[in-house]
Amino acid sequence: MKRKTCLFIFIGAVLLGLPVSSIPASGYNIFGSNCRFDPANDYDGLGIGVLTTDPLYNSNQAFSTTSGGNAWNTVMVPQFTTVSYSSSTRDVRVEWGNLGASVGGRTTYWCGSGHYSQDPLFEWGANQTYYVSTADRRKVIAIHELGHTYGMNHNNSTSCNPSIAGLMYTDVVVKTNTCGWTVPTADDVNGAIDAHNG
Ligand SMILES: [Zn+2]
Repeated sequence: MKRKTCLFIFIGAVLLGLPVSSIPASGYNIFGSNCRFDPANDYDGLGIGVLTTDPLYNSNQAFSTTSGGNAWNTVMVPQFTTVSYSSSTRDVRVEWGNLGASVGGRTTYWCGSGHYSQDPLFEWGANQTYYVSTADRRKVIAIHELGHTYGMNHNNSTSCNPSIAGLMYTDVVVKTNTCGWTVPTADDVNGAIDAHNG
């Protein structure tokens, strides 16, 4: 009687274990603990400084940078704020560049010791049209690039399951087209938290 009970428990554990282990818990990827904002500066938020004198400056893209920051601010701390480009409380540089015909945005970052060694640079692609042709496309590009600034790398899951996939997909506009996403998914948020605090 005693052995039979043990056998039942063993089989039950195996059956319960299979479906749990076959479903990925998350899909996000992070750069690592040396490639993130300095957590010691969280108290004054994450200052976004836009180079308004950039020769390639575009007001629609500048506005969408704020829209992307606001989308993160509804689900994540520390929150993005708007500061002048030359502000001492700036944490992200936003500029424009000729990035090629298929690039809507790009983020460059410099890993340091426990945090970035200098402010990450978010550049808008200035010489292409498709990716910046609608407000939603510009917004998700800003969410994606600001996601990089939190310290996230790409999540290349093609799924529309928001617990394992999100807007950190390499081609973020594809995710909006196929999954309807215009705000960070649960996986994006989990990744941002892990990237910033991990
Ligand atoms: Zn990217």
